[in-house]
Amino acid sequence: MTARVGTVTLVGGGPGDPELLTIAAARALASADVVLYDRLAPHETLAELAPRAELIDVGKRPGHHPIAQEEIERLLVAHARGGADVVRLKGGDPFVFGRGGEELDACRNAGVPVRVIPGVTSAIAVPAAAGIPVTHRGVSRLFTVVSGHAPLSPAELEHLAGLGGTIVVLMGVSNLPSISAGLLRCGMAPDVPAAVIERGGSAAQRTTFADLSRLRETAERAGVRSPAVIVIGEVVRRALLGEAEARAVLADAVLRSGSGV
Ligand code: SAH
Repeated sequence: MTARVGTVTLVGGGPGDPELLTIAAARALASADVVLYDRLAPHETLAELAPRAELIDVGKRPGHHPIAQEEIERLLVAHARGGADVVRLKGGDPFVFGRGGEELDACRNAGVPVRVIPGVTSAIAVPAAAGIPVTHRGVSRLFTVVSGHAPLSPAELEHLAGLGGTIVVLMGVSNLPSISAGLLRCGMAPDVPAAVIERGGSAAQRTTFADLSRLRETAERAGVRSPAVIVIGEVVRRALLGEAEARAVLADAVLRSGSGV
């Protein structure tokens, strides 16, 4: 008789606050034998959420890769083949810049049963935590989520600048200068409001506001660090109480802490 093969569940853990885990995510964690988790996934309460599980930190910090992606995939398959029900807990949604597709392929190629539980993505939830709706009737009817990990090409910048909706940039802190300069170069209005929300949903959340033309220097002065979500577009004004106050705040490029409202 062959031993039972376990399963792999790719779980979106939301932007960090355990309250934003889905019920399906909590259930998968509760019955997991092994959990491989990320730095951005909600991990502080993992011992409670996954009481039976061996917890393995495979977290990556920008520029550092403690465990290579291939090794994560190897571990998923190896634990499942050993009979364990494995949860791969990822920040946000597994398929939004999360390399979830690669992990899914690795399991499928190895013949390991795998399923995906979507998560609340930081692309929407982090702006919301700062009081910014990514769409708003009469203001923005589209939003584009873009990775700022690698510099944007001139063609991409041109398209983004011409779209007219909300731009949400993940992993964009180190390329913020080139992204804001590129959008301005492509004709985006210098007074379009922007916000950088760091550590969204945590007690240490901080929102920095500036108009596009001053985003770079304001973010530099504030010492903005990853993880952060950058939002560019008129919806940013919704984070501020009234239009008059919004204008004043943006004009002064004032720094705000907390919910941003
Ligand atoms: N799959 C994730 C995104 C992974 S890319 C998701 O759907 O949310 C990692 C980037 O997400 C970070 O560089 C940052 O831009 C953003 N991010 C994730 N959690 C965040 C948080 N709590 N606060 C601010 N930014 C966050």
